[in-house]
Amino acid sequence: MNKIKKIVIDIDDLTKSQIVRMILEKQTEKALEKLSEFYHVTPPQIVVGTIKGKRRTVYALYVQKERKIYALNSEIFFNPFVVLHEYYHHIRTKLGVHRGSERNANKFAQEFVDAYKKIVGNG
Ligand SMILES: [Zn+2]
Repeated sequence: MNKIKKIVIDIDDLTKSQIVRMILEKQTEKALEKLSEFYHVTPPQIVVGTIKGKRRTVYALYVQKERKIYALNSEIFFNPFVVLHEYYHHIRTKLGVHRGSERNANKFAQEFVDAYKKIVGNG
């Protein structure tokens, strides 16, 4: 738990905002590669598609045994919050045994989105 928090803090806001921008600019794979350099993990694959038996309301899903993020459609593929949420599950399963809670996955994603808003925001 603290491990992940510490790592997240180690990434500065500028980098976080760059990651978000890459996803918005449809360079999701590149963003995940860059992130994975920081975390020293193999980047997950990200694909558009659904999983048999998992058809329902979720926008995206991380499948641990495939190390793959499934995005429901291309809109989701380029949605930073959703992508980063699923990416959190990827690093958590790399760093430990637990995929992490949904709440922490949301927090993780939100940190990046907030950093992006702070830097590009016109406020
Ligand atoms: Zn989740």
